[in-house]
Amino acid sequence: MGKFIFDPLTGEPTILATERAKRPEETAKAGTMSVTDHVCYFCKGNEHLTPPATYKDQEDWHVRVIKNKYPIVEDHEVIIHSPDHDKDLEDLDHEQVVRVIRAYLNRANFYGSQEKEVFIFNNRGKKAGASLVHPHSQIIALKGFPGILQSEKEWSIRYYDEKNTCYWCDEISEVLAGKDRVILETSHFVVFVPKACRWSYEIRITPKTHRPSLVFIDETEINNFAGVLQKVVQAYGNAFNYPDRNFWIHTERFDPFHWHVGFLPHLKVFGAIELGAGIWVSDKATPEDAAKLLRENI
Ligand SMILES: [Zn+2]
Ligand SMILES: [Zn+2]
Repeated sequence: MGKFIFDPLTGEPTILATERAKRPEETAKAGTMSVTDHVCYFCKGNEHLTPPATYKDQEDWHVRVIKNKYPIVEDHEVIIHSPDHDKDLEDLDHEQVVRVIRAYLNRANFYGSQEKEVFIFNNRGKKAGASLVHPHSQIIALKGFPGILQSEKEWSIRYYDEKNTCYWCDEISEVLAGKDRVILETSHFVVFVPKACRWSYEIRITPKTHRPSLVFIDETEINNFAGVLQKVVQAYGNAFNYPDRNFWIHTERFDPFHWHVGFLPHLKVFGAIELGAGIWVSDKATPEDAAKLLRENI
């Protein structure tokens, strides 16, 4: 089990999780392994090789959630996107993406009922930190997250105290007024490149309706979110030939937070300026040019 260690000077959090060194690393091998090369723990028929399901949509499952065998923190689960070893969110049909989102909601609700916050994330490819090939997301739950989530929470409270509005509601109004950083606008979501995108082609999806937590979304939004999520990963696929990528959901149980989703394609690696100075270098496109290219590919 991992434990947090904090830099005594800056308070920067690190999770010490050395047990994870034992986990299998498929993605370390060249290329993508096919299901015939080895036993995949996440494929249908191999359920007995994994911990029991904490969630599945039905007995003959389309989506299955299990405890992570090599947890980073105590509550760490894997959400298997589908029985299909080779199809990820880009290729699944709409109803299947909806099922994945329902699994996110079920687990976020479960941990919310224990007064825990959740961090839901997806790593695809070795550069993005994935160790197993079969498409999956992960969820970790804690009483509260240090790091970026803690900062966003504190900043949003300060913003609300000063302006009496929500930071993210204001952000999407500004983005929509300017238009040049918008990638896609739907009935319920705005997809855009953040003003200070950390890497070129970083994307944020923000729902138009103000809700602190993902778990409060309604049926129409679930349906719309599935379409938007799929379009964004397809846009990266079209623009950059299916790059390794990450996405994550920032959600909190209480106001004035406003849930949103972040995406990064791995088109570059960390250098000394990122690691040593803590300064991101976005050197492939301006936010406006990045938005233009992604708009053309969505
Ligand atoms: Zn598989
Ligand atoms: Zn808001």
